[in-house]
Amino acid sequence: MPQPKALIIGAGIAGIATAIRLAVKGYNVDVFEVNSYPGGKLSEFEQQGYRFDAGPSLFTMPQYVDELFRLAGKNPADAFTYQRLDPVCNYFYADGSRFTAYADEDKFAAEAEAVLQQPAGQVRRYFQKSKAIYQITNHVFLEQSLHRLKTFLSKRTLRSVLRLPQIDALRTMHSANQKELSSKRIVQFFNRYATYNGSDPYQAPATLNVIPHLEQHFGAYFPDKGMYSITTSLVKLAEELGVTFHYGQPVQQIITAGNKATALQVNNNFIKADVIVSNMDVWFTYRKLLSKRPELFPEKILNQQRSSSALIFYWGISRQFAELDLHNIFFSGDYEAEFNHIWKQKNISSDPTIYLNISSKFKPDDAPPGHENWFVMINVPANTGQDWNTLIAKARQDIINKLSGQSGQDIASLITCESILDPRSIESRTSSYQGALYGTSSNNRFAAFLRHANRSSKLKNLYFCGGSVHPGGGIPLALLSAKIVSDWIGD
Ligand code: FAD
Repeated sequence: MPQPKALIIGAGIAGIATAIRLAVKGYNVDVFEVNSYPGGKLSEFEQQGYRFDAGPSLFTMPQYVDELFRLAGKNPADAFTYQRLDPVCNYFYADGSRFTAYADEDKFAAEAEAVLQQPAGQVRRYFQKSKAIYQITNHVFLEQSLHRLKTFLSKRTLRSVLRLPQIDALRTMHSANQKELSSKRIVQFFNRYATYNGSDPYQAPATLNVIPHLEQHFGAYFPDKGMYSITTSLVKLAEELGVTFHYGQPVQQIITAGNKATALQVNNNFIKADVIVSNMDVWFTYRKLLSKRPELFPEKILNQQRSSSALIFYWGISRQFAELDLHNIFFSGDYEAEFNHIWKQKNISSDPTIYLNISSKFKPDDAPPGHENWFVMINVPANTGQDWNTLIAKARQDIINKLSGQSGQDIASLITCESILDPRSIESRTSSYQGALYGTSSNNRFAAFLRHANRSSKLKNLYFCGGSVHPGGGIPLALLSAKIVSDWIGD
């Protein structure tokens, strides 16, 4: 029998993982990527002797990467290594207090009691609840398609479905956190997890309080060769399995015949396929690649609110800061006002929470000796045509003022070089609608059900993977989408 042919649109992390899984399944796989490099949002760049991971900086659930090597019969540790972080992150509050988030739960709870006056017992109960939500939701919402009858026919799923009232979907994250924790500062700490999928803690369901369990129990990690080594090691694995990557090759159109996707148009050539998987944002997949078939567009799903975006300053810094670590958060004084700016006014607060990542703390060759590579990020609204140049200039000054105040150093004078990524450039570099980091937002309790399925309901052999479809954005979920797609294909 001839080898079945799979074509993948996009070499984002989900496209690469799908390519690996389909190659292992016996498919002949070609991946078409518009950029000259793989990885999409998970990419890197260099400027004046500093290396920066361009997008993701927090690595969780490394087992989903390891699984791909094992599937191919390889030892993951031969190709991709990482270390567990402890502490995970430093938090600097507006009142001057500093909280260290330790990986060990008891140590974390003791620190919360000592620094934030948060009773340790409440914190331990909070983590237990977070774990319980994980145990109910993981199997149903994350590891399988919500759009297959098969998913709901297993006893395990049915057991989870019966426990759904326990997932706390009726309260918002903030109202649950406020009820269950007495310190305002720890409420702010746990509210921040909404931003892990680009949502608003004052609107998103308390089900998202599952995220602290993922970070606390499964851990946060740093890949020894930087975040981009997730991409490069998986591309290498895919190539060893016979996958061909075509860079600088934008897919122009998905060719269809009736209820089948038959080929891709690339460089005005037509390449036939048995199966097509789009790792391109689902919004653009329909509007650009299927523009001749508007009757196929699932408008209600495509028009879901998008997640937040980000504004990032990549700064070379001409000295080192002993008080900072790999992950650092400088909280705003009024968190609710900050989220109102993002979600209601669709602009940027003058006191944004600043995330500062310094990979040279763990990988010293990411910066020249005595220097640091600062990845300075704030959450901002998705791009709906704001006057970004004005917003960015103001935010840059606000950030410099805040970091200078907190550190007692004139930060502006330490910046040796700068690059900026904003919602417009995220959109243009990765074809992500409105520059959203995580596809659609999770700001309503039905969000999990309203995310696009991993398979087209109208074109039998067209599948979707990546952060804009089920189960959602972030590296772990993008990798799970690849698993769902490849399990579905040929089943
Ligand atoms: P993408 O990375 O979006 O890749 C899609 C690919 O498809 C791109 O390479 C694009 O060029 C290509 N493509 C699009 N259209 C075409 C076409 N017509 N033809 C050919 N190719 C095409 N996640 C975390 O887990 N931890 C973090 O700390 C974190 N931080 C983040 C910070 C930033 C600034 C950003 C931007 C994202 C962050 N994320 C984080 C989210 C994470 O990066 C994404 O969810 C994940 O990388 C998405 O992968 P993907 O496979 O869906 O697609």
